[in-house]
Amino acid sequence: MLKCSYGKRMKELVAKLNQYAKEYYTEDNPSVSDADYDKLYRELVALEAEHPEYVQADSPTHRVGGLVLDGFEKYQHEYPLYSLQDAFSREELDAFDQRVKAEFPNADYMAELKIDGLSISLTYVDGVLQVGATRGDGSIGENITENVKRISDIPLKLDQPLNITVRGECYLPRAEFERINIQRQENGEAEFANPRNAAAGTLRQLDTKVVAERRLATFLYQEASPTERLTQNDVLNEVAELGFSVNPRRIVTSSMDEIWDFIQAVGQDRDHLAYDIDGVVIKVNSLAMQEELGFTVKAPRWAIAYKFPPEQAETKVLAISVSLGRTGVLTPAADLKPVRLAGTTVKRATLHNEDYIRDKDIRVGDRVIIQKAGEIIPEVVRSLPDKRDGSEVVFSMPHTCPACGSDVVRRDGEAAWRCVNPDCPAVIGEKIAHFVSRDAMNIDGLGDAIVQQLLTKELIHDVADIYGLTKDELVALEGFGEKSADNLLKAIEASKSVGLARVLFALGIRFVGAKAGRVLAESFGSVDALMKASADDLTAIDDIGPRIADSIVSYLAKKKIRPSSKN
Ligand code: NAD
Repeated sequence: MLKCSYGKRMKELVAKLNQYAKEYYTEDNPSVSDADYDKLYRELVALEAEHPEYVQADSPTHRVGGLVLDGFEKYQHEYPLYSLQDAFSREELDAFDQRVKAEFPNADYMAELKIDGLSISLTYVDGVLQVGATRGDGSIGENITENVKRISDIPLKLDQPLNITVRGECYLPRAEFERINIQRQENGEAEFANPRNAAAGTLRQLDTKVVAERRLATFLYQEASPTERLTQNDVLNEVAELGFSVNPRRIVTSSMDEIWDFIQAVGQDRDHLAYDIDGVVIKVNSLAMQEELGFTVKAPRWAIAYKFPPEQAETKVLAISVSLGRTGVLTPAADLKPVRLAGTTVKRATLHNEDYIRDKDIRVGDRVIIQKAGEIIPEVVRSLPDKRDGSEVVFSMPHTCPACGSDVVRRDGEAAWRCVNPDCPAVIGEKIAHFVSRDAMNIDGLGDAIVQQLLTKELIHDVADIYGLTKDELVALEGFGEKSADNLLKAIEASKSVGLARVLFALGIRFVGAKAGRVLAESFGSVDALMKASADDLTAIDDIGPRIADSIVSYLAKKKIRPSSKN
């Protein structure tokens, strides 16, 4: 690589990682797996070490991720929260051990499970729960006290009148995650990608009733306010005695061999736990040594998180089916022989696109390795050609749309095949599903089955028709009563005030995601002002490139019906 290319790559990595961090921490809706994120992050760390002259001021390696969501009061933490340095190999753990032992040859470690949820900080005054807060950027978090009070294993009052701040992880048990997702599927709502996102999404929303319904739980592991205890082990015992949930699985040892054995044992049991974990945290046990070792800008020097590699399983591809997304893209997926992976049964895995299938030579009937990295939709990682018996069939993408029979095209430079029919019912159905989804117009009660009925009965043809639906039309639908019709009409009415940013996102304009929606809403304030903008006006705005600008201009030029909404 040329020297200046390092700078360019670092800039690219910072932009990508910051975008992913926003999706993950702020929107609770990651688009890449943790393993993919970690790989890019490590590439950035290595480049920054070699080329400090190109380090960007907004690099994610220099700060704790997470922002405060609108709608929540900010909470300034008295004691900052940190991230953790991570390790992916025994060698990295040994290097950590050597750094610690160079200063404290007799150091003991405490190894604990790394719970995959989100950090919470609980402050008690005179023994009464005063504030519950998220980590945020480490100094300023969100005040989520009312939500935290709905978590049944958090004591509202301690037996002793203590002034104390305890920290830990809030998580959603796997069984509860599955229950909520089944319910969301039945309601036609988007499913949560994984328990972590479900926990974060639950705790960081404004309806306390929802928090009470979803049975979140906690494991506390830290006393942030000064303590008289001497070790991390004592802290955990004290926190448990005070009535908090503390994870029972932990060891104290000075030996990395024993820690490594613990990690292997935990890794083997991981699938059988009632909650997700993504690793094991190793902390120097003595609090006095911790204080001496101190912190970097982002993480304690006295701890390291060993992260498990993505979980994989072997199974068989029974068939390859193709479904349509709202942009008309045909997406192939493998229908699999059901297999247990990361605590759930997997029956389908994405194959992304035609090139992916061809490059990896994945055939119907193949034995394959599938992977769930960060518990995003599982993917087929590779086929196992040695296990073929000759009956496997090479897959080819259909030449017509599986939903409407129209032609499909593959544009230059794209890996995707698309249906050319703008009125394709599958595409319209997907567009409507996106339009009504939680992060867009948030219209509850308009699930897939209802949308399909409305389309078949020709009561709606596109998203604008939703606003003309009447109660008589709704009660005539299968599965609809007076009450559900009233609720849906109320939800439709309420969606008119979600604000321009969400409307722009909801319209499903190509390349206009939630962020571009916000930027455009801030810059233009109304659809009418946006309609008057040229591609040049649009590209003059930070964050709006020519690709987004062209897409908006051609979308608006085609539209006769426009929702009118002010920000
Ligand atoms: P982290 O999650 O790797 O580790 C720090 C956190 O671990 C702490 O804040 C705490 O909440 C938690 N934790 C759980 N059990 C603990 C225990 N026993 N003791 C101490 N802490 C414990 O670090 P992070 O900075 O919160 O997040 C970075 C990670 O988040 C990345 O490595 C990546 O895996 C993931 N991430 C993913 C995306 C994505 O797009 N998929 C984006 C950003 C971050």
